[in-house]
Amino acid sequence: MKLQSYNELLHSKYRLSLMLFLFLNTAASLFYIYSRKESSDLPAQIIALLSGILLLWTFLRPKGKFPLLNIAALVTGLLWAWQILRTFELVFYFDNSFLLLSLFSAFFIAAIALNDSLLPFCLHTAPPSITVLVLDKGQNTLLIVFTILLPLIGFSLHNLLQRRRDRFTRRLVSQLYEEKEAWSDLSMLDPLTGLYNRRGLTNRLKNIFDNHAGNHYVLLLDIDHFKAYNDNYGHAMGDQALARVSVAIRDAVRSRDVVVRYGGEEFLVLLTNVNEAIAMKLAERILHYVHELDIPHLFNERVATHVTLSAGFAPIENKDFDSALASADRALYLAKSRGRNAIFSWQALAHGDMTKPADAR
Ligand code: GH3
Ligand code: MG
Ligand code: MG
Repeated sequence: MKLQSYNELLHSKYRLSLMLFLFLNTAASLFYIYSRKESSDLPAQIIALLSGILLLWTFLRPKGKFPLLNIAALVTGLLWAWQILRTFELVFYFDNSFLLLSLFSAFFIAAIALNDSLLPFCLHTAPPSITVLVLDKGQNTLLIVFTILLPLIGFSLHNLLQRRRDRFTRRLVSQLYEEKEAWSDLSMLDPLTGLYNRRGLTNRLKNIFDNHAGNHYVLLLDIDHFKAYNDNYGHAMGDQALARVSVAIRDAVRSRDVVVRYGGEEFLVLLTNVNEAIAMKLAERILHYVHELDIPHLFNERVATHVTLSAGFAPIENKDFDSALASADRALYLAKSRGRNAIFSWQALAHGDMTKPADAR
């Protein structure tokens, strides 16, 4: 899961809380108007209308990011305070529990819909609380303060815990995401040589075709008589030789070229934005660098007394990597059959120029 989808989750939670808050206000104000039928119900009527419209608007715009909750909480809080003030003038003489009941209902709505968001909770409950405190004129101050403080303390603590949990979850999600990226990078690299593996090649190939319009070449390289090297010097020495040859290949080409360990002792280099002459030069440089490593290989039959490579390359035409690979493989096969430690160009072969393979020595 990405951090983005976690944020989307939080947004949808926020939206649901806003919709619930608006719904409760609409329902409470409609009930209020219906049960009293007084001419003093103007604030409740405004609440019903406003909350209804906003509820519809929020419902129809699921992607809307406007921070409506704070404003809606404050405006409805003020309207409810106004409504309490107006009703109080009428019921003052015969209903002394009215003020406490009004306070309860304001806290009731906030508690249901805003228990996750402390600021809107305070914005909504502050105007009715202050109004009730003022109208009461000190008769029930202790009870009213208790009614206000108790949920406020409870929700503050709840909010604190919630924020901590949210910070922890965010950290966890981004850490997981980073680790996923690191693993996906690692899964594209060959552990012995640090070069790209086939998966890495597929990934880079797509990137190159998407972003570079020039001519690209596939160069295949294969260590000569490596089985004999392994058999005589041992597998561990073989691994060491593979790692050193990999470094030499990487050093010989440009940073934009993609070097891949394509098989056991077979390498593929994707030469980007080159022509045949440059491809040949880069291949020659690779063979030269590997020659310079001077890794002893006395079982290289008649080729040399140290580790050598054979190479074949071909251009990628019409983004057809597979047929370029097949052509490069045929050129490599020819380099092998013509004595090894040599480079063959598929284009040169196609033009019948098969007599003079390039030689690193
Ligand atoms: P050629 O000149 O025709 O390429 O002969 P070759 O012996 O190099 O070719 P072959 O394909 O017969 O042998 C490749 C050898 O490479 C076989 C295996 O012992 C060795 N090899 C492949 N992968 C690894 C590896 O990861 N570590 C080591 N040490 N050797 C490997
Ligand atoms: Mg080989
Ligand atoms: Mg091979």
